[in-house]
Amino acid sequence: MTFDITKIRSDFPILAQQVYGKPLIYMDNGATTQKPQIVIDTINALHTEQNASIHRGVHFLSEQMTERYEHARQTVQQYINAEHLYEIIFTSGTTGSVNAIAFSFGEAYIKAGDEVIVSEMEHHSNIVPWQMMCNRKNAKLLVIPITDDGELKMDEYKKLLNSKTKLVAVGQVSNALGTINPIKEIIKLAHATGAKVFIDGAQGIQHGKVDVRALDCDFYAFSGHKLYGPTGIGMLYGKEKLLFDMPPYQGGGDMVERVSFSKTTYNTLPFKFEAGTSNYIGAIGMATAIEYLQNIGLENIADYEQQLLQYATQKLKQIDGLRIYGNAHDKISIVSFLIGNIHPYDLGMILDKMGIAVRTGTHCAMPLMDRFEIEGTIRASMAFYNTFGEIDKLYEGLVKAKMMLE
Ligand code: PMP
Repeated sequence: MTFDITKIRSDFPILAQQVYGKPLIYMDNGATTQKPQIVIDTINALHTEQNASIHRGVHFLSEQMTERYEHARQTVQQYINAEHLYEIIFTSGTTGSVNAIAFSFGEAYIKAGDEVIVSEMEHHSNIVPWQMMCNRKNAKLLVIPITDDGELKMDEYKKLLNSKTKLVAVGQVSNALGTINPIKEIIKLAHATGAKVFIDGAQGIQHGKVDVRALDCDFYAFSGHKLYGPTGIGMLYGKEKLLFDMPPYQGGGDMVERVSFSKTTYNTLPFKFEAGTSNYIGAIGMATAIEYLQNIGLENIADYEQQLLQYATQKLKQIDGLRIYGNAHDKISIVSFLIGNIHPYDLGMILDKMGIAVRTGTHCAMPLMDRFEIEGTIRASMAFYNTFGEIDKLYEGLVKAKMMLE
């Protein structure tokens, strides 16, 4: 398939919008992505014509919705190539998924003196739940340091691994630097010492094909809203045996088999981990987004985004005093930078008035900012609907803003 950018942009109605009288240039895709019309229409139609709670009703609408919800689970299963349908658990998002495992895995497998490894470039969502778990269990949290280019120091990682390591939790891709981590190797090394591995796929899943079986990861998580789907929905993949051994992290409807005051028994997988009325419309919306991406082709998306990254990197580097944070060999289409001593917030504000949406600040990665001894960066995170022309506009905007602020 040829990559038809005009057609692709027309699939996303929000992109036709003007901001302060200027065409919107949306480069905050690391925070959340825009939604194609097909996702908006699907969610609308479900609310308009089909809404009914799943799994409980015998009536027509409920049965139809249940079927579509379970079909969405199948779409996700195939998307990441999980072995079993019941290894796919719908959650509220990546954060929901990490907290779920941090509690349940912690209860089943972590004891005092055990060790958990994260990396210096993790999002707060992949730090704080583990910290909380370690505090609860009297376990120790260890950190893989990174190089100045923003790559994991794999030699240091190897030194951290030992028989006490129970879990390694790393991001597939850094949201603040764009670094693609060597997760296959990380997983292999962890398994060699008997540790399990959680992969935070929040920034990885939308940029290329993920195969959890080929990776052999024990857990994997992502959010719908970063995948061109709705907010408030995400997924957690876990290997059958682990999910089976782990206790539920929330009690309520749907996750039970039988309830009495003397004893309650739990439902089978995946329902054991889906307490309460789930976000079924979100799940179907997310599956629709996945199908949309599959139609474009994940390889086409990855190729085009790499071109955007190369172009943006070369272009922005021409600005005097601009420093890029995150110069890893393998990167996704994120450019994080600072210019001279200009505060990122000031630059971001001026760009906003030009219709250019970028992110400024710590990107929920304060330990990473501490590592570089900076308060934050400006982050342009590009998606497959961004254009080379928009990168030119970003460049021109930065040159102008720099003149105003210096
Ligand atoms: N991990 C990474 C790498 C992220 O970029 C994000 C979102 N910025 C999260 C986790 C958390 O995702 P959510 O807020 O959708 O739960």
